[in-house]
Amino acid sequence: MNILMFGPNGSGKGTQGAIIQEQQGNIAHIESGAIFRKNIGGGTELGKKAKVYIDRGDLVPDNITIPMILDRLKEDDCKNGWILDGFPRNKVQAETLAKALKDEGIKLDYVVEIVLPREVAKIRITGRRLCANDNNHPNHIAFDAIKPVEKDGKLVCRVCGGALSARADDQDDAAIDKRHDIYYDDKTGTMAAVNVFKALKGETKVVSVDGRPSIKEVTATMLAGLK
Ligand code: AMP
Repeated sequence: MNILMFGPNGSGKGTQGAIIQEQQGNIAHIESGAIFRKNIGGGTELGKKAKVYIDRGDLVPDNITIPMILDRLKEDDCKNGWILDGFPRNKVQAETLAKALKDEGIKLDYVVEIVLPREVAKIRITGRRLCANDNNHPNHIAFDAIKPVEKDGKLVCRVCGGALSARADDQDDAAIDKRHDIYYDDKTGTMAAVNVFKALKGETKVVSVDGRPSIKEVTATMLAGLK
């Protein structure tokens, strides 16, 4: 099963993507932002280039991002299917991906879109925390279902007890606003990318889910749509 996940920063898209992966068992969960953060952490050339853009809330240029993701989709763990989360982020990326899938004869089964008003997404962003051990361990200080736990006076990952950190671009108001400007832009930004896939007729099913209810409710609606 091949799935594209869309949703503004703060919509719970990463959390829901991790749930689908767990349910499906053997499909890859590919998060473009997490690939960049891993490279930044590892001090790679790619990481150094990407950091400048990420800190500002800008998109990393297409000539870096597009080949990175298209190559990633060719790796072995993608053979049984994938969830692509955070890519495509603009119209050019969407059109390039749609063409690459068509050329390779790869079927896109679902487009999942988590719909959330901009002001709600913004409030949610500042509370989320990253687990040092596993990117698929969602933690958020404002949501009971995924609240970090306290250990020795410190908040740690609720799944594995790993150290938690906040992303720098999640605490910077201007960077948050810029990321949302890009997401909600339906001319060339991410909403334009969503529309490229919505316009594909035929084998791809679009599942639009209201992101405002609880995580459990969003999961239930989403999984019902994936049947
Ligand atoms: P995310 O973890 O999805 O919020 O991504 C964090 C940051 O990585 C974004 O704000 C961008 O700077 C960069 N990034 C992630 N995905 C893409 C993409 N598809 N195209 C360009 N930049 C991206």
